[in-house]
This record gives sequence, C-alpha cells and structure tokens, in this order.
Amino acid sequence: MDLDSLINFAYIVASILFIFGIKMLGSADTARKGNQISSIGMLIAVVAVLLTKGMDYTWIVAGLVIGSTIGAIAAKRVQMTGMPELVALFNGFGGLASLLVGWAEFAAHTDDSHIGIETGAAVVLTILIGGITFTGSIIAYLKLSGKMSGNAINFGGQKALNILIAVAIVVLGGIFATTGATWALYALIGLSLLLGIMAVIPIGGGDMPVVIAILNSFSGLAASAAGFVIANNVLIVAGCLVGASGLILSIIMCKAMNRTLGNVLFGNFGAATGKTGKVVEGEMKPASVEDAYYVLEAAQSVVFVPGYGMAVAQAQHAVKELAKILEDNGAEVLFAIHPVAGRMPGHMNVLLAEADVPYEQLAEMDDVNPIMNTVDVAIVIGANDVVNPAAVDDESSPIYGMPIIKVYEANTVYVLKRGQGAGFSGLVNSLFFRENTRMIYGDAKETITGLVTQFKD
Ligand code: NDP
Repeated sequence: MDLDSLINFAYIVASILFIFGIKMLGSADTARKGNQISSIGMLIAVVAVLLTKGMDYTWIVAGLVIGSTIGAIAAKRVQMTGMPELVALFNGFGGLASLLVGWAEFAAHTDDSHIGIETGAAVVLTILIGGITFTGSIIAYLKLSGKMSGNAINFGGQKALNILIAVAIVVLGGIFATTGATWALYALIGLSLLLGIMAVIPIGGGDMPVVIAILNSFSGLAASAAGFVIANNVLIVAGCLVGASGLILSIIMCKAMNRTLGNVLFGNFGAATGKTGKVVEGEMKPASVEDAYYVLEAAQSVVFVPGYGMAVAQAQHAVKELAKILEDNGAEVLFAIHPVAGRMPGHMNVLLAEADVPYEQLAEMDDVNPIMNTVDVAIVIGANDVVNPAAVDDESSPIYGMPIIKVYEANTVYVLKRGQGAGFSGLVNSLFFRENTRMIYGDAKETITGLVTQFKD
C-alpha cells in the first residue's frame, strides 16, 4: 500500500470511530467510552495528516504545544457551571481556524493564475461560516459570562443593515470566486466577522445555550468547507458530523423549551405569542426542614427533580447523600431529569454524575411522568419552569405546551428555593400554590444538608 492509500485508509478508520463514538454519547453509561473512541479516531486522523509529504513540523509542533497547553489549562480550571462559556470559546476558535485555513490556501497560491472557481467557492464558504462562528461565539461567551449585558441589543434599521451586509457578502463572494480579487477576500473577511456580531447581539443572554449549539453546528460546517479547500476527506466527514449533531441538539433544545428555532433567533421568551398567563391566586405554604424530615422518614418512594438552582447551590453531593439515606431507610429513589433543566444540555446529568449518582437512578421525563401519581414525595431542588403546571393547564401561558415533569401529581411536593425568585422564563409557578406543595426556603445545599443531619441525629 503506498503512503497516500495508507493515509486515506486511516481517514476511513478515523471516520468510523467518530460515528461510533457519537452513537455511544447517546447513553450515559457508554458516553465516557464514546468520548475515548472519538479521541482515538482524532489521534489517528492527526497522525495520518502528519504523515503527508512536505509538512513543516516546526510550526506544527509550536501550534500543538501552545494550543494543547491553553486547552488543558482552560478545561481543568473551568467550573461545571462555566462549561457553556468554554464550549462557546472553543467553537469560536474552531471557526477562526477554518477561516485562517481558507485565507492561507489563497495566500499560498503565489502564481498569478486564478485558484479556480470550485476552490474559490469553498474558500468563500470557509471564510463566511468561520467568520460568523468566531465573532458570534465571542459575543455568546461575553453575554453568558456576564462580561457584557445579556439584554438583547436592538436598534432602528437593524434588520435592513443585516440584509445589506448579507447581500454585500453574496456579491463579494461571487466576485472573489470568479476573479480571485484579493480586495474582495479582505472585504469578505471583514463583513463575515461583522455579521457574526450582528446576528448574536439581538438575542437575549438566556438563549445563549441554544445559540451556542447552533454555532457549534456552524463550526462543523466551516471545518467541512475547509476540508474541501485543502481536499482533506476526514475534515469533510468530521465537519459534517459536528454540523449535523449541533443542528439536532439545537432542535431538541427548542422542542423541550416549546419554542421554534426562529423564535429563539429572532424573538424573546413569549414574544412570539404575546401571552402572559393567568394570574395565580392563593398562597404559598412554607414548611421547615423538620416537617419535611417526618414525611420523608415514612416515604416509600421519593423522586428528586433537580433544576438550575441545584447547580447554583452546588447541592449535588448533599443530594446524593440524602438519596442514599432514604434508600437505606427503605424508600425507592429516582432522579427525574428534564431535557432543559439547568442552563445547558445534560447539565443535571453532568452534576449528578460528578456526585456519583448511579445511572439507573436517573429517569427521563417521559418515563417518570406515568408513575408520578404513585410517588409519595417529590423534592424539587431549585427547579422552576420545568415543573410549572401552567404548561399543561393554562392555555394563556407562554409556556403552554412545553413538556414538564408532572410533580404536582405526587402525594406531597417539597420545593427547595431561596425565596420568591422566578425561573428563566420569569413566570409565576402555580405549583407553589397547590394544596399538596410545601415550600422550604433557603439555599438548596443548606436545606438538603439540614435534612441529612435530621436523619443522622
Ligand atoms: P429555572 O431557571 O426555571 O429556575 C431556577 C430556580 O432555582 C429559580 O426559581 C431560583 O429561585 C432557584 N434557585 C436559584 N439559586 C438557588 C439556590 N442556591 N438554592 C435553591 N434554589 C435556587 O430552572 P429550571 O432548571 O427549572 O429550568 C431551566 C430553564 O432554563 C427553562 O426555562 C429552560 O427552557 C431554560 N433554558 C435551559 C437551557 C438548557 O440547555 N438546559 C438552555 C437555555 C434555557 P430563587 O431565586 O427563589 O432561589
């Protein structure tokens, strides 16, 4: 087998490993292995690329050392709650890398002949998608990390300006692809970077996780386009996989939030419907940790429903301890996970895995809802929107139709939150006013630790 065939064979092996790796990410108990298999695929792809003739290893080694050091330090330092920001930055730099590949391919073409319309078109796509991904991701990072206001930024004539930029990009792209004019390329780079900023500033900070999933998909498409520019098959395949999986993730997130992709990108929560929901009447009934202890002591089945507040309180280890105590006390314990609980996909799964909660105790919303009316106690830990019954019984609510975990069907519901704070949607939650609901105010970690202490005393 000659070197080229060997390299292509290695690319096929790497692509197969990527596909199996992604498939295994679909289930919590195979995810870790899936990640490792994909990493091996990437290692094979990188080694195969390095075998290509005519490589200048000095720059490659310098890039490898600098990039790996920054990546390793960033990944080690990041808090679990800061993961979406880190992903945003990684996506952004993926986009920038693709943009640079497109640019470099043109710059490396030193003779006067035109680079060819096919390569020209691929360079245009690489620079356009890579540029939008880079600046869009940086804005998403700044909004999520609070370094810039999370409010949507709107101004008069914004849509017209965006359309103008998009039209200019199409014209410049056409000029560059057909003539290879350097000035058109530079203008294209500038406008693509500008479009990324313009596309993300009108979107509210709370929607950034969905935007990041979309930009993740874009970074894959940019890489795929870069693969066409440098005629590298494995880059095309890997880019398509990232592009498709990012898009699927964005759609799943939108469905679980009962919103369309268009509403996330071009509107705010509830903006599309103008609905505000019914006024909730009644009063919330507070309970003490001691009250809850007596009920839990006698419970045969307990379902924990974690939400964003559990991440804020970092209560997962205390929750795991309480779950173990309840089990030892004879109760059946489950954790009901809503697909958009928290602020990023899989947020709750990651936290509970960190606390070593066994996978078999994690139940998906669709599996737990049918048995909810047989549950003695549901403990809502800093969750709000994902358990709001308005999604089921108030047609005038902006979240009407959103799938929720039906904790209100349990015999007794304890809601752990600090005070009267609303959730992400800003809506009042009628669950808190129900007959079978008791509110335990305070930081979730302190409340759970208090319950653990009661059991131990
Ligand atoms: P919510 O944002 O609806 O509610 C969180 C609740 O936690 C608040 O009501 C707050 O009340 C409470 N809380 C905050 N800190 C603490 C603390 N230290 N201890 C106890 N409670 C605390 O969370 P959910 O998980 O229910 O819902 C997620 C929302 O985010 C959904 O609307 C979803 O659509 C949205 N979203 C999710 C994404 C994802 O990928 N997961 C992406 C984008 C949006 P109080 O202030 O009174 O304590």
